[in-house]
Amino acid sequence: MKEKMLKFVSIAMETPEKRARKKRTEDFKEIYNKFINQKAKEQSSRCSQCGVPFCQIHCPLNNNIPDWLKLSAEGRLQEANQLVHSTNNMPEVCGSICPQDRLCEGNCVIEQSGHGTVTIGSVEKYITDTAWQKGWIKPIKILKEKKQSIGIIGAGPSGLACGEELRKLGYKITIYDRYDRPGGLLIYGIPNFKLEKFTVERRTDLLKKSGIIFKQNFEVGKDISLESLRKKHDAILIATGVYKPREVELPGANLKNIFPAMEFLKASNKKGLGDKVKNFDNGILNAERKNVIVIGGGDTGMDCVRTAVRQKAKSVKCLYRRDRENMPGSAREVRNAEEEGVQFIWLSNPKKFIGSSQVSSMIIEKMKLGKIDSSGRRKPEPVPKSQFEIKADMIIKALGFDPENIPKLFNADDLSVSRLGTIKINLKTMETNLPGVFAAGDIVRGASLVVWAIKDGRDVAESIHQYLENKQTKNIEAA
Ligand SMILES: Cc1cc2nc3c(=O)[nH]c(=O)nc-3n(C[C@H](O)[C@H](O)[C@H](O)COP(=O)(O)OP(=O)(O)OC[C@H]3O[C@@H](n4cnc5c(N)ncnc54)[C@H](O)[C@@H]3O)c2cc1C
Ligand code: SF4
Repeated sequence: MKEKMLKFVSIAMETPEKRARKKRTEDFKEIYNKFINQKAKEQSSRCSQCGVPFCQIHCPLNNNIPDWLKLSAEGRLQEANQLVHSTNNMPEVCGSICPQDRLCEGNCVIEQSGHGTVTIGSVEKYITDTAWQKGWIKPIKILKEKKQSIGIIGAGPSGLACGEELRKLGYKITIYDRYDRPGGLLIYGIPNFKLEKFTVERRTDLLKKSGIIFKQNFEVGKDISLESLRKKHDAILIATGVYKPREVELPGANLKNIFPAMEFLKASNKKGLGDKVKNFDNGILNAERKNVIVIGGGDTGMDCVRTAVRQKAKSVKCLYRRDRENMPGSAREVRNAEEEGVQFIWLSNPKKFIGSSQVSSMIIEKMKLGKIDSSGRRKPEPVPKSQFEIKADMIIKALGFDPENIPKLFNADDLSVSRLGTIKINLKTMETNLPGVFAAGDIVRGASLVVWAIKDGRDVAESIHQYLENKQTKNIEAA
């Protein structure tokens, strides 16, 4: 009653302008939804239902794309949604941020014949967004909760997918994460102009309603040792991602206003989520009116340049030591960044940061491509006497990420890691050398993609289930 009264009062107090604005928004939403609906149908019906589904083969989750495109073209969205969810825990996320040009869409037969791909990702997102709107996506209801519990370290896509799959089987799940919000890089890495954060929050809220316990601001290694956690649970998953930024060891690297990419992106994402961020609010991590240089040509570099543009930087430049053709970042992202006004300085390498207390410019050296190296790419070599200087008020280092020293952090020297620091697993079972401790996602693969993290999370859930079943059988036999 009180709510109804309040709504009535707020409508009565609306000014004519406010009412007109609201109507325009509603009209827009209606037209927009109709447009999207029509577009999705149009795209779905373009699928030629070819005999060999190359799109499906090149999707890491082996999504049944031809079938859900067909269902969608026929308007059978509820069935399409069931099919979409049968292989993917976050279809709307993948639909938004998978590099489709390298995966499903890049292998669409229609694309190969030069007629433009079926926009698979956007149809996947459309089906799932519709399912959320219609209330078809519901929390997991389990018939009988099992006694065994699993502790998951890391609430990124890998940990979340694994937790969801094991919860469906009735296990007790606790997910521990050192950030204040679940979602991992989906929340604090990927910028919100690429992925709307409410889509991630909606997913984690659903998992909470499904009975999964989240312990945020909880750092394994600091708040509890791996050993103690193993005693609390019947199995453990390590899904901690990779967070150690690669460094540029150059003169002047200690000057102020030189930041690692994650510090810049996290501050921006926190602001987008409505948080107070001291170093953003006082201007330090805000690119507004600054000459920004981003070092690195990968996808993280692209996210940094495009975030700086949105923060209204005076100029944004991206340095990369190879040329456009050899850039690791997606060609689509580079095109987008160029359209937004980012200047790429190809074949260039940073040599020195200059400034008194904070950076004011940078010395750069031109490069040329030499012979093919062990990575299979042409090695960049310096061009003699080619150094030049560029003005910079803010420099962002986006040279990639390595794993942290997990055995040291977790106080678990006996945990086996590779030469690169990624956790070693049995490739069949995904179990580490410590019995009952599994690992998945970026901490095993090295920096990768969300869709692979989800795939690993689903696979490791199956292995953990098998491990616990076997353990139970052995216990019964021994009794
Ligand atoms: C800037 C950026 C942009 C990207 N853009 C894309 C993109 O557009 N498309 C795409 O497919 N992929 C993208 N990626 C890659 C993608 O985000 C990752 O591959 C994916 O998130 C890996 O998932 P994960 O679950 O393994 O780890 P993460 O998502 O990194 O999650 C790991 C979680 O573990 C927690 N954690 C770590 N250590 C501890 C500890 N000791 N105790 C407790 N918790 C801990 C962390 O807080 C984090 O929440 C991007 C990555 C970055 C950095
Ligand atoms: S999950 Fe990614 S690769 Fe697979 S169909 Fe969806 S957008 Fe394509």
